[in-house]
Amino acid sequence: MLFDFSGAVYISTYMTSPLETLADNSTLKDAINFMKNKHYKRIVIVNEENKIVSIMLQRELISLSYSKWATIMKEYSSELSQINEMLSKKTKKYEAMASMDQLTGLYNRYKFTELFVPLYATMVKRDNEMSLVMIDIDHFKNINDTYGHSAGDKVLVDLSMILKRHFRHVDIVGRWEGEESVALMPTANIENSKKIADKIRLAIKETKMLDELQVTASFGITQIKMGDTLEKIIERADEALYEAKNSGRDAIKIKY
Ligand code: GH3
Ligand code: MG
Ligand code: MG
Repeated sequence: MLFDFSGAVYISTYMTSPLETLADNSTLKDAINFMKNKHYKRIVIVNEENKIVSIMLQRELISLSYSKWATIMKEYSSELSQINEMLSKKTKKYEAMASMDQLTGLYNRYKFTELFVPLYATMVKRDNEMSLVMIDIDHFKNINDTYGHSAGDKVLVDLSMILKRHFRHVDIVGRWEGEESVALMPTANIENSKKIADKIRLAIKETKMLDELQVTASFGITQIKMGDTLEKIIERADEALYEAKNSGRDAIKIKY
């Protein structure tokens, strides 16, 4: 109900020609739509007996609707903030899902590539040393063939846990493809990254996986240089990894 106006008078007291009016039991929304559709600047509101109960200007209607809106916002602000909080949690969850590899919980290749860009820019700006390590499980195909694909998956998860535990929180560790992982070390030169890689190599070797299995991995390390692209960096790390495999596996090789 828009208005309750006592002392109402008949429209015919003021108007002789037919006049479009709005019933006093209309909603605010009806009134706003009515004015908008008719392009009226004011509306005449009548009761059931066709008596004028009010004449309202467009700006009065707008201010009335604003105050109604403000009341509603006040009333529901706690619900709204709860909904907002829920939505932002969901957004975070979906963002995490889109950036993580589902099996291992490491960054996926897409996210890894995305994170590389600003870190590389910082390295160039600050003249930092930065390196990249590529890790590939040795004879992983044999593990799959002997124990089955799910057991192979379990090995991938166990290995990823070792990587997460040993790399530092500033390092970006991702699943590159299949059983190949990659780690970007934004503050490490070759010597530092070799030390960390060696600890990880030993930790993998010393962890019994699938109850009884000894798993080893090979590592390829490269130093990131000015003017590098991720493609070129990966290519060098891959070459170093290939050398590590050729040298008998369970090894670390460096390609500058
Ligand atoms: P190398 O020591 O030379 O690296 O031998 P490898 O057997 O590990 O070599 P290769 O890269 O040829 O084999 C990798 C295998 O990894 C092949 C593929 O079936 C398996 N693989 C890739 N992704 C997954 C996965 O998500 N789960 C499992 N269980 N296996 C995977
Ligand atoms: Mg392999
Ligand atoms: Mg491989």
